[in-house]
Amino acid sequence: MTSIESKRVQYRKYLERAGVIDALSKALIKLYEEQNKPEDAIRFVRKFMCESCPDDAQYDLMKNDLDEAKTTIARLEQELERLRGQIKKSPEEYQELTMAGYKSLIDDEEYVSSLLRKYLTPELLEEYMLVTTPSPVDAYLYDCAVSGFEHHDAPVGIYAADAECYDVFTKLFDPIIREYHGQEENDSDVLQKDVDWGNVDEIENLDAERKYILSTRIRLSRNIEGLPFFPKLTEKQLIEVEDKIRAATETMDGELIGTYLTMGDIDTETQQEMVKRNVLFARGEGYLQTAGCYRFWPTGRGVYHNPAETFMIWSNEEDHVRVISAAQCGDLGDVYQRLVTGIQELEKNLTFIRHPSYGNLTACPTNLGTTLRASVHIRLPLLSKDEERLKAMSEELSLSIHGTGGEHTPIEDGVMDISNKRRMGFTEFELVKSLQDGIVALINAEEELEIAGQEG
Ligand code: ADP
Ligand code: MG
Repeated sequence: MTSIESKRVQYRKYLERAGVIDALSKALIKLYEEQNKPEDAIRFVRKFMCESCPDDAQYDLMKNDLDEAKTTIARLEQELERLRGQIKKSPEEYQELTMAGYKSLIDDEEYVSSLLRKYLTPELLEEYMLVTTPSPVDAYLYDCAVSGFEHHDAPVGIYAADAECYDVFTKLFDPIIREYHGQEENDSDVLQKDVDWGNVDEIENLDAERKYILSTRIRLSRNIEGLPFFPKLTEKQLIEVEDKIRAATETMDGELIGTYLTMGDIDTETQQEMVKRNVLFARGEGYLQTAGCYRFWPTGRGVYHNPAETFMIWSNEEDHVRVISAAQCGDLGDVYQRLVTGIQELEKNLTFIRHPSYGNLTACPTNLGTTLRASVHIRLPLLSKDEERLKAMSEELSLSIHGTGGEHTPIEDGVMDISNKRRMGFTEFELVKSLQDGIVALINAEEELEIAGQEG
């Protein structure tokens, strides 16, 4: 007998000995004898074999218990997170954590490309480790770098914990900002031009025939003066931000009239639907999580939106305020007009933090300057087949291309998210205009390919 056969024989004997064969046979005979054969035969067999199994009523009860337990766990986790958020670290603890975090970052041989790793030298670490921004925030370098210390694959790896971080830790932030925003050659102290919304009428509908563009969106980030950024916001301050936004939106007029909804009042299912429609946001990725972005969730989070869902203001998503204008078509002019009206109205009631060099301040250095990202979701079937050409064109036109699920998502069904790559060093108008010019150029290229295809 081969060894496989002998194993089989042994296994069969074991099944017989244990009564498994007998039990299965009885179940199958019972099923055979059944006059009305059940639709779900497996359930029938399972029920027959299982003496101590719960009946349907018991099963429902147990399921209820499980759901309740899950809710309790979620509540306790939230409470734990809340309490953790209130723990104050001593300077010694900060020092220890900073040194351990830095060591793990520079000892990593696989992920070596974060800007934090590039610019945080041992000398700077020494100099900044125990320095804090002014009280009562008292942000340490660690509060800014904790995410980059843990996520070595993060491209940047640092967030500002309050506005002062950009100046207090300037020898670290400034080179990171210059490199990220392509300002290495710029030796001027002022990197961002003054706000200029330009002549809104010059921005147009880029696809009046609705052939290529599925939707258009522009967003801005803002932070309210006098409050720290998300890594150091207290629970009270998260609510303060929300209250300020709620009050500031009361004067909105015309198509911008809407309602403010706080996240805690929206049931989970509705939240998910709203996130799908891009009206609301959900908790995001791990970099932000580690940086402290979701502390006290969902406190202070919410959205103001008009009934058409073409104008949104998010509270405490990442920055205090995100202003979004959108349309389910290619009318960039309409979207821009609404955005400009909205932000100008908001600025009448709220004072946002601006920096003399970097423009509008945001927690993430990548968003500084105008903070403006204008994007279209666009389908260019022919051009997108020629990846190299598309890449070359997007470089030349200063466009970023990614999937439609947000940053770091893949391109699916040939639909791309195309937006302005630059945020700093240009005016708001210049960036929107450059997206307009870029999209027009891409659509022209697609049309040329269509004609060539018809001729050839
Ligand atoms: P942001 O830079 O504003 O954080 P993301 O790329 O993270 O933008 O996208 C945020 C959300 O907005 C995503 O769900 C994305 O699908 C949606 N979005 C972005 N641009 C558009 C657009 N032009 N049309 C429709 N939805 C968009
Ligand atoms: Mg995002």
